[in-house]
Amino acid sequence: MDPHTQFCPNMGCPARGKIGEHNIVIHSQKELRYKCKVCDKTFAASTGTPFYRLRHSADLVTTVITLLAYGCPIQAIVAAFELDERTVYAWQKRAGQHCQEMHEHLVQRPRDLEHVQADEIWVKVQGHVVWLAMALMVRTRLWLGGVVSPQRDEGLIFSLIHLVRQSALARPLLFCVDGYTAYISAVQRVFRTPLPNGKRGRPWLVPWPDILIGRVIKRYQTKRVVAIVRQMAQGAQERAEALLAKSQGGQQLNTAFIERLNATFRSRLATLGRRTRSLARLDETLQASMYLIGCVYNFCTDHKSLRVPGIIGGKRKWLPRTPAMAAGITDHRWTVMELLLFKLPLPGWSPPKRRGRRSIETKALIARWCT
Ligand SMILES: [Zn+2]
Repeated sequence: MDPHTQFCPNMGCPARGKIGEHNIVIHSQKELRYKCKVCDKTFAASTGTPFYRLRHSADLVTTVITLLAYGCPIQAIVAAFELDERTVYAWQKRAGQHCQEMHEHLVQRPRDLEHVQADEIWVKVQGHVVWLAMALMVRTRLWLGGVVSPQRDEGLIFSLIHLVRQSALARPLLFCVDGYTAYISAVQRVFRTPLPNGKRGRPWLVPWPDILIGRVIKRYQTKRVVAIVRQMAQGAQERAEALLAKSQGGQQLNTAFIERLNATFRSRLATLGRRTRSLARLDETLQASMYLIGCVYNFCTDHKSLRVPGIIGGKRKWLPRTPAMAAGITDHRWTVMELLLFKLPLPGWSPPKRRGRRSIETKALIARWCT
């Protein structure tokens, strides 16, 4: 237990969310509890993680979550660890929600994406199919997120492009997508910024400059690709080629990188949802699984093509990197335990709103904690 890395989770505490203020001490080694000296409240070390209030050991939960993230069938886990099926589903849901929050906090930050590939896959679950649309930043192989929907429609693509925009800086950006026309209108609609004109009403929406869309259309004959058409739907070919070279994303327009990622997700999701009862629960499970797989992929998995030459102990060696390392989000490969133990920062305390003048005590608290 290390109190220096902890913060007080009490929403009413002035020291809430602050790290390194020496206000946290160990309350009980046996019960794994800390105490905040400012509000005098104790809290469990697992507060804010998927382990909170679970009866099973963190090691067992982590093992089960790791197996789920690599596509191990839930029935196999139930049989191997003698757990109830509902317990495993509940852990999966908790871990998935945690991963989604983490993804939104760490990955969905504006960055120079250069080249993004997006695609949809269908996943077969209990007699029908569910669509999963995902996007990938090519140079770092960073998974940018995904959307689950019962249909493949414009809404699905729009939500996905909206997700990509949350991670994009206004820099030249090339989209490589398949032949689905919904991408073009979605990119054109989403990548716009309101231009204030000083008048009332809805401001003008100005399209971002240098947003390029390349399409890779494959023609199939009896499940085999017989022809590939590559064309620009927006922007000039030379600009696209420059971005392809900059992002090390191949010689010509392609969707190879997202297809590789799709295959990974598909194999890990394959064992999913066979025994779920309701559709709503299924979507929830699928969403949770997707974020779990995505975060394990981004943070915990070395990617061979991302390795860089380096020197360890005087010898030249290849240094493996994860997509999150390549994107500069972290400096090391995380374990699944580390992923699950990550605590999202809390917003700082703000003094309660009251009429009249603030008391001396409140002023002192604001001076101490709100700077
Ligand atoms: Zn406190």
